[in-house]
Amino acid sequence: MSTDKYYTLAEGCPFASNRTALLINGKRGGGLGLLQDTQLIETLAHFSRERIPERVVHAKAVGCYGEFEATRDCSDFTSASFLNKVGKKTPVLQRVSTVGPESGSADTSRDVHGWAMKLYTDEGNLDWVFNNTPVFFIRDPIKFPSMNRSHKRHPRSHLPDANMFWDFHVGNPEGIHQLMVLFSDRGTPKSIRYMNAYSGHTYRFTKPDGSFKYAKIHIKTQQGIHNFSRKEATKIAGENPDYMIEDMFEAIERGDFPVWNVYVQLMSPEEAEKYKWNIFDMTKVWSHKDFPLQQIGRLTMNRNPENYFADIEQAAFSPSTMVPGFAPSADPVLQARLFAYPDAARYRLGVNYQQLPTNAAKAQVYCPFQRDGKMRFDGNYGGDPNYVGSSLQPTKFYQDVKGKTPQALGLHDEHEMWAGEVSAYTSEITDADFVQPTALWEVIGREPGHQDRLIENLVGSVSGVKYPELRKAVYDLFSRVNKDLSLKLEERTEASIKAA
Ligand code: NDP
Repeated sequence: MSTDKYYTLAEGCPFASNRTALLINGKRGGGLGLLQDTQLIETLAHFSRERIPERVVHAKAVGCYGEFEATRDCSDFTSASFLNKVGKKTPVLQRVSTVGPESGSADTSRDVHGWAMKLYTDEGNLDWVFNNTPVFFIRDPIKFPSMNRSHKRHPRSHLPDANMFWDFHVGNPEGIHQLMVLFSDRGTPKSIRYMNAYSGHTYRFTKPDGSFKYAKIHIKTQQGIHNFSRKEATKIAGENPDYMIEDMFEAIERGDFPVWNVYVQLMSPEEAEKYKWNIFDMTKVWSHKDFPLQQIGRLTMNRNPENYFADIEQAAFSPSTMVPGFAPSADPVLQARLFAYPDAARYRLGVNYQQLPTNAAKAQVYCPFQRDGKMRFDGNYGGDPNYVGSSLQPTKFYQDVKGKTPQALGLHDEHEMWAGEVSAYTSEITDADFVQPTALWEVIGREPGHQDRLIENLVGSVSGVKYPELRKAVYDLFSRVNKDLSLKLEERTEASIKAA
């Protein structure tokens, strides 16, 4: 540390001591404070304001930096510049979180883990806001707040509540696939390093001529998948609630950098029309056999943050942060997230959150139509026109400078031309919703003891439901996946309640 540093107030006035207060009769060992003691007042006032609003979901997180390396030239299906040359490296910020519990909670709780990445590409930032599960609990965006509240604290008792959790899922059974993943061994991963991540949503890789492929992205750990048992996860939650943060921080500190391979499944618009599943329904996967994984890159996390608050807490991720060559699909939950994530960042960090160093693009940014606002801390574009169509200062477009057409909004082929009537729509549950959960039950059955552990994990949760009719509804829900699973779940849950 520099030896010529000296302490000052926040606006530069040097002070003599950092542990002094101005007091009337202070020399007698006590005394009344004074409003003119700016040093004390600012110190106390700033302390009360240290916390910014906690994220309503994804509050507890591990964060670090690293790089994405392209392992394939992907220009046959995307113009995204970070994917157009083998070996091209792009810096990355990563933030991996539990979803429901608060910032101080145990990070080994059984929960989905959010997997957010900011790729600082040379054509602007690309945020991949994924999960460690390939599917999601809902497919109707209006259910998002309800689903999350049911996983959090009861409005009266302020306690996590199994009645509320299962009441939501019985009433919204499309989440059964995600529940199967959550209560499998993968619901309690041993570390961030040992988990996969998935886009869940269908996205699109696009080319400037308007052609595109639908895509799902898979990020697969090269450290192997390792999970805690229910008992281990509970024990560690008590002993070290920050286990995952520590595990990742220490691994990076000792140079043991975790690596993931990044794959895509690609589907043409024509294939999408004919596919057996609605590809905009994020409770479904695309079979690996139908659409094989193709590797596009490798991710290595190799640097811890310099300061957690500045680098990780102030980080804001949104699926709407995209680059030319990567685009959203008509998945309704994705469409809602495109609005909700930047909206949350504006509330949590302020309207100029994109200027914070951790969020700022490393590529050129010239966006003079977003001006002013709270906490503007650059030059605010000086006197440049803040309106379009200026003849006083005509500004070039990307193709004039780079000779390359950027992603043109609205340039889409027929598959993305939407015409139709506005209708009120809520998705319906059919037997088809249970086909993939049943397939997963069978996949899990390939590993000795795993089906039994899934049942035990469910018993641990369902035995907290105090209403017999609601428990019965849970058994009925799982009987649509597999009869044996449901029978064993009922038998063991009721026995565990009797024994308690
Ligand atoms: P495959 O036999 O080709 O794939 C099975 C996949 O199951 C594996 O590749 C693995 O995914 C995944 N898996 C294994 N254990 C678990 C678990 N505890 N929780 C979540 N996933 C697990 O079959 P299909 O592609 O035909 O899919 C069969 C079922 O596998 C699906 O219904 C789905 O539930 C599940 N699955 C499928 C994925 C896909 O993208 N097709 C992805 C993940 C799960 P991974 O290789 O990602 O580790």
